[in-house]
Amino acid sequence: MHIKDHVISAVIISIILYPFVKLNVLYFIIGAVLIDADHYLYYAIRYRKFNLIKIHNLWIRHPKKFAEESMCIFHTGEFISLIVILSFFSFEGLMFTLGVLFHMALDVYYQCSVLKFPRNYSLFRYINRSS
Ligand SMILES: [Zn+2]
Repeated sequence: MHIKDHVISAVIISIILYPFVKLNVLYFIIGAVLIDADHYLYYAIRYRKFNLIKIHNLWIRHPKKFAEESMCIFHTGEFISLIVILSFFSFEGLMFTLGVLFHMALDVYYQCSVLKFPRNYSLFRYINRSS
């Protein structure tokens, strides 16, 4: 799913949550939007290209290819399991985790319904596939 769609949907949910959690809603937005930074990290490391705009445009043109080949660490079950555990220890962590889970729900929906290709969401599976 495109970052613009994540921003719009996160802001809409944040407006609904704001009366209940006040400024802690910012952690929700961070979780719902900034975890896509791992896409940039993956391609910058793999292709040695650091221009954010070029990487974004490449991803827009070839989303299925990138979904097949990439391993985005913040989108893995292992990372999400870790932050779910950490969310038991702070309210800010809980809001961040809820944002990440919201982001993941949108990503899974997009990949299954639009791309018709579910991404690999396991770091261990990716490592085993690569070796
Ligand atoms: Zn994502």
